[in-house]
Amino acid sequence: MVSSEYERRIATRFAGFDQDGNGYIDRQDFSGAAKALLAEFGTTARSDKGQALFIGAEAFWQGMAGIADRDGDQRINRDEFVNGAVKRLRDNPERFAAIARPFLHAALQIADGDGDGSVTVEEVGRVLRVLGATPSIADTAAAALDADADGRVAEDEIVVAFAQYFTVPE
Ligand code: CA
Ligand code: CA
Repeated sequence: MVSSEYERRIATRFAGFDQDGNGYIDRQDFSGAAKALLAEFGTTARSDKGQALFIGAEAFWQGMAGIADRDGDQRINRDEFVNGAVKRLRDNPERFAAIARPFLHAALQIADGDGDGSVTVEEVGRVLRVLGATPSIADTAAAALDADADGRVAEDEIVVAFAQYFTVPE
């Protein structure tokens, strides 16, 4: 039986990918997220980090389209998301992590203000807010990632948590 709580969570995940809110997940949502992250952290699109972010965003889109865009119209509608992406990725969260990792890696490089190779809880919260999370959800999620409470979050923890969040265990 499919619970209404499960449906609600699916709708939230879909909205998270549908960054421009037009009812479809498509390439524009991923490039738009990349642009918003660059603006938030004052990084240019032409910089090495900016280029890496756009390459990661395109790879993320291509990976998601390969899994979910059944009719090949270059858009993932809600039905394709629920019956393609969510079901397949739930069975294989490692695949989702592999698809998302280049984008997440590049995003964390951009968010890493002092360039020491790790990001602070505050920086992760800023990334999540730019990607559409409400401030309270972003801050709670960022703090939860910092399991040992040292104020910093490792990339692997973020990739795993991101995969778990978007693959929506029932
Ligand atoms: Ca969209
Ligand atoms: Ca489609």
